[in-house]
Amino acid sequence: MKQRAYNFNAGPSALPLAVLEKAQKEFVDFQGTGMSVMELSHRSAAYEEVHNQAISRLKSLLSIPDQYEVLFLQGGASLQFSMIPMNFLSAGQQAGYIMTGSWSEKAIKEAELFGKPYHIASSKKNQYRTIPALSELTFNEQDAYVHLTSNNTIYGTQWKEFPETGNIPLIADMSSDILSRPIDVSRFALIYAGAQKNLGPSGVTVVIIRKDLLEKENSDAPTMLKYSTHAKTNSLFHTPPTFGIYMLGEVLRWVEEQGGIDVITQKNEEKAKIIYDTIDQSHGFYYGHAEKDSRSLMNITFRLNDEDLEKKFLTEAKEAGFVGLNGHRSVGGCRASTYNAVPFEACKALSEFMGEFQQKNS
Ligand SMILES: *Cc1c(COP(=O)(O)O)cnc(C)c1O
Repeated sequence: MKQRAYNFNAGPSALPLAVLEKAQKEFVDFQGTGMSVMELSHRSAAYEEVHNQAISRLKSLLSIPDQYEVLFLQGGASLQFSMIPMNFLSAGQQAGYIMTGSWSEKAIKEAELFGKPYHIASSKKNQYRTIPALSELTFNEQDAYVHLTSNNTIYGTQWKEFPETGNIPLIADMSSDILSRPIDVSRFALIYAGAQKNLGPSGVTVVIIRKDLLEKENSDAPTMLKYSTHAKTNSLFHTPPTFGIYMLGEVLRWVEEQGGIDVITQKNEEKAKIIYDTIDQSHGFYYGHAEKDSRSLMNITFRLNDEDLEKKFLTEAKEAGFVGLNGHRSVGGCRASTYNAVPFEACKALSEFMGEFQQKNS
């Protein structure tokens, strides 16, 4: 078998090898059923066990309090951009968006279809190199909610501390850093994340919603696009993405086996550090896009001083077996996504490759 790639893809991204191998083993006969997980009825006891275990593992790993529901939806984080204002914003009503990158821009654009979203703060004027300081943020009690993006996959910035919004529901897109570090779920009214970065394969979207928010839902939203529809039915109102949920459950089991979120956090810090150190010690040969105090542990964005050299770097990195190092098409440059399942060895290999490339080219 070909060696596993050094996979730095931004999403879909690396999955733990142990999970892939377990899925392979169970692929045609899941636990003696004589069927693949994909062939089970979503109403069967065997599937229900998979489904409920995935929910309880997530609740336990993230210490999700009892007053929250965990939902498995479809449509990606992108559908959440629409579902949130469709359910919680009324015509003429305001909602505050904290703008930290392309995903915040996409989110607010959908909210404009339903109400009056506005910018609480924006780091656009510095090319989204920073997360706004908490002291810059002011909130308006009348707002339907406040929305932020906890990790900016494209620009490589990440919130270190979250704002206190009092009675205003705080909503976060955590697609690219959920489960990478401990979070205090009780600070949020709703958290959402497409699974394909840290949680599993694409096709499942996780929503963690505080039950009292469900009561504020606009009643005229279509059935499938109401959170309460899925909350009332344990995300089994219709056929859920069963195989994706099974894989997500196995990724969560893997996180438990690694020692839980604290161990994962520590590994993520070590992985990011070895690459950031390479950038910082390169005397400007490489330079980071994000300002140091806003740097993401999940998406490391950097550039080379010279565009031709940058192209050469990306070409040679590809030849050397590194996958997914091109920056997002909207910003260019380089990006290494070091999600939970990316092993330290891959980050170390990248750091060494960067060091050698610099030596040869300066
Ligand atoms: C990847 C990503 C999205 C888009 O997710 P889809 O599941 O493709 O809709 C949204 N927000 C953030 C922060 C992301 O990283």
